[in-house]
Amino acid sequence: MSESSPWLLRAGWLALLGGLVSLLLLPARCVYVDAPRSDADPAGTRYACPMFCVLLEERPRDLRCPVCSMELEAVAPGLVLTRGDRERLGFDAVPLERAPLVWRRELYGVLAYDERAQQRLIARVAGTVEVAPAESGGASLAAGEIALELSSPTLLAAQTDYLVAWRAAGARSDNLPEIGSTRDYLNAAALRLADLGCDEAERKTLEARGNGDGRLRLRAPRAGVVVAQRARVGAAVQAGDELLVIADPSRLRIELELSAEERASLARGARAEVRLASGSASVARSARLEWLAPQLDAATQRATARLDFEAGSEIDGAAWLAGRRVAVLFALPLDASGNVLSAERAPEPALVLPSEAVLRRGGRAVAYALSSTGDTPRLLRALPEDGEIAYRAIELELGPEAERAGANDGVRVVVVRALRDVAGAAFAESLDAGVLFARRAAFLLDAQAERSGAPSLRSVSDRR
Ligand SMILES: [Zn+2]
Repeated sequence: MSESSPWLLRAGWLALLGGLVSLLLLPARCVYVDAPRSDADPAGTRYACPMFCVLLEERPRDLRCPVCSMELEAVAPGLVLTRGDRERLGFDAVPLERAPLVWRRELYGVLAYDERAQQRLIARVAGTVEVAPAESGGASLAAGEIALELSSPTLLAAQTDYLVAWRAAGARSDNLPEIGSTRDYLNAAALRLADLGCDEAERKTLEARGNGDGRLRLRAPRAGVVVAQRARVGAAVQAGDELLVIADPSRLRIELELSAEERASLARGARAEVRLASGSASVARSARLEWLAPQLDAATQRATARLDFEAGSEIDGAAWLAGRRVAVLFALPLDASGNVLSAERAPEPALVLPSEAVLRRGGRAVAYALSSTGDTPRLLRALPEDGEIAYRAIELELGPEAERAGANDGVRVVVVRALRDVAGAAFAESLDAGVLFARRAAFLLDAQAERSGAPSLRSVSDRR
C-alpha cells in the first residue's frame, strides 16, 4: 500500500501532462471545433493564411497553410460585419464632416542676421594685420570705432609722398599757391591716400604728426557685431581681401527648413508667432514669411524659407541672438478646398475625415465607407444597433492635415478634396457630409478586403 500510492500519483501526473502536450500540438480545429468544413462555401470564397503566407482562389484539399501549417481561413466574397465582428475588432465609425479648419504647425528655425544690413570691410592695400577684434568673433563695435589695423609699406610710401608734397606747398592743403606743379602733386598724393583707404581725418592726423607710420585704420561704418572675421593678427592680406563682416544686431531674420507638405501649403506673406526655443518666459514676436525656395532640395527633400520680424516686433539684443533656435508657430485658416490662406480671414468649412480613418500608401489614400448589405446598398449615416453592415474602399484625394478651428484639441483631420467609389458608382446617394466611415478598425477591414479580392489600399496604390 505504502509503495503503490506514489506510483499511482506519478501515473496521474503523467496522464495530465500528456493531455496538456497533445492539446498544444493538435491543430486548433481538432481541439475546439469538430465541424468538418463543407464544400458549400459561397462562390468567390478565397482561402487565406492568418499569417498572410498564402491566398488561394480555390479550396485546397489540405486546409493547412503550405508555409506555416496554420489552418487557412475561408474569406467570404462580401465585405460584411456582424455586430459580433464589430465588437471583436474594436470597430467604430465617424462621419465625413464639413468643418472650418486651421493649418497649425510648430516648426523650428534659427535666427540669422539680415544679410542686407551687413557691412563688409575690404582691404584696399596689401599689408599685415596688426590689430583685429578678439579671435572668438561676435565683438561689438560702435559707429566709427577702429575695427582693424593694417601695417602697409605701400601706405607708408604714399604717406611720405604726401608729406613731401604738403611741405612743398607750404604745409597747407587749402588755399594752395597758384603754382601748378606743386598743387597738382599735392592733389595727386591726397588722391592716392584716399584710394588706399585714408579719409580726410586720417590725413589731418598725418599732417599733425609730421611723419608716416604705414598704419591703415579701418573703422566700423555703423554700430554692429563682427559676424565673420577672415583676417587674424599677423596675417598678410592683399588688396581686395574681405577682412570683416559687421552685422546689425537689431536686424534679424528666421531661417526655416520645410517639408514638402509644408512647402506646398505655405505662401509668401503668411504670418507666424515666434518664440525662443529655450527660455519659456520669452515674449512672442510676430514674423512674416518673406521668401520660399522655389523647389525642394533634391537630396534632403526639404525647402528653405525665410521670415522677417514684423515692424514693431522689438528685438531684445540680450536674448534674441543669431544662431539661437526659435519655435515658429503657424496657425492659418483653410478655404473650402483646403488651401492654406495667408490672409487673416475666417476659415471656410471644408470636407474632412479624422486622419485615423484614412489609410495611405505611395501617394494614394482610401477610407472604408459603411453601407447596408444586400443588392441595393444604402450609405449609412447612423449605425444600426444590430444586424450586418457592409464596407467598401473609397479612394480619396487628400488636402493637407489640419485641426478644427477653435478646437485646439490636437485631433488631426485631413481635408478630403474628392472621393471615388473604387468598385464603380454603386450608391444612389452621393458621398457627402454625414456618411459614416470606419475609423479604428480601418486597417483590419483593409486586410480583409485585400484577402477577399475586393478593392483595397493595395489594389488602389498598385494601379498604374
Ligand atoms: Zn501560413
